[in-house]
Formats: sequence, C-alpha cells, structure tokens
Amino acid sequence: MTQEQSTGGEGGIEGKLRICKKCLIREMQEGEYFKNMYEYIASLDPDIKSDDTLYEARLACCKDCDNLLNGMCRICGCFVEMRAAVRKNYCPAAEKRW
Ligand code: SF4
Repeated sequence: MTQEQSTGGEGGIEGKLRICKKCLIREMQEGEYFKNMYEYIASLDPDIKSDDTLYEARLACCKDCDNLLNGMCRICGCFVEMRAAVRKNYCPAAEKRW
C-alpha cells in the first residue's frame, strides 16, 4: 500500500498524507523511506536520543569506515544514521569505532 492509498489518495480521509506502517521499503515510493527515516530520527524521545555532538562524532567514524556501504553498515545491516541516533547503540564491529 502506498502513502496515497493509505489515505484514499490526495484529499483523502484527513486531507493530508499519512505513513503506511505496514509497507516494506520496496513498496514505498522512491525516496520516501529516507524521508521516513529522518522523521523517525527527529521524533526520538530526547531521553534515548544521541545529542548532536555524539551523533556527528559517530557518523564521522562511519564515514571513515570500510564497512559503510550506501548508508548501511555491512556488519549489522542498519542504516548508520538510524543506529547512531539512539544513544545506547554501539558500533557492531569487533573493534568498536563508537
Ligand atoms: S557502525 Fe561501526 S562498523 Fe558499521 S559502518 Fe559505522 S563504524 Fe563501521
């Protein structure tokens, strides 16, 4: 089900787009899942979210890591921007970078 289908198309039920929580990435419109990811990160509870300094330091480590591939960590399969956004998470490598 696409975003528009979930609300009955443009001018749907509430007159605005809603996210279908049951879609797979392959079912989403191009680029939509990245938007959803950034919305997810922005909506994280401050109690569990990495602060900006920690977040950027983590991403700098990933940018310098051979395991980064198309935004994903080849070890765990996570989008690193998502993984780094949660403070309790850690780098899954044997020799942790963060
Ligand atoms: S999470 Fe760790 S292993 Fe994965 S890309 Fe980032 S630094 Fe590399």
